[in-house]
Amino acid sequence: MVVTGECNCGTVVFEADVDEPDVFICHCSICRRFTGSNGIAVVLCKNDAFRWLRGEDKKTVWNKPNAQWQANFCSVCGSALPGSDNIDSMFIPAGSISSGGEKLRVAHHIWVDSGAAWDVIGDQGRIHAKAFKA
Ligand SMILES: [Zn+2]
Ligand SMILES: [Zn+2]
Repeated sequence: MVVTGECNCGTVVFEADVDEPDVFICHCSICRRFTGSNGIAVVLCKNDAFRWLRGEDKKTVWNKPNAQWQANFCSVCGSALPGSDNIDSMFIPAGSISSGGEKLRVAHHIWVDSGAAWDVIGDQGRIHAKAFKA
């Protein structure tokens, strides 16, 4: 499926070919601070299936010291943006997708053991106490 997305101010726009309809929700404390919510929901795609349509130069990347974690956000409005997941794939914040995401569904919850006390999971996604395990 082809999804398109953007930040709240519209400076950054992207599109991607997403193979799997799986949404991953990370409940860790770092993602919670980033979003201010119970975690972050992301979709994955291959690097070569992702295209910035405009505003890539307005993306700010912040690497958390001593952690394998980075924040990707619009330097104008602060919206979460796609970033590098590993050497060959990208993650896309599911909430930034504005069209084409109708078939997406929550498939996995990760780092559930470190979730907020008030975080109640109420969908069919698989529970992973820590990192994703296939
Ligand atoms: Zn923006
Ligand atoms: Zn996380």
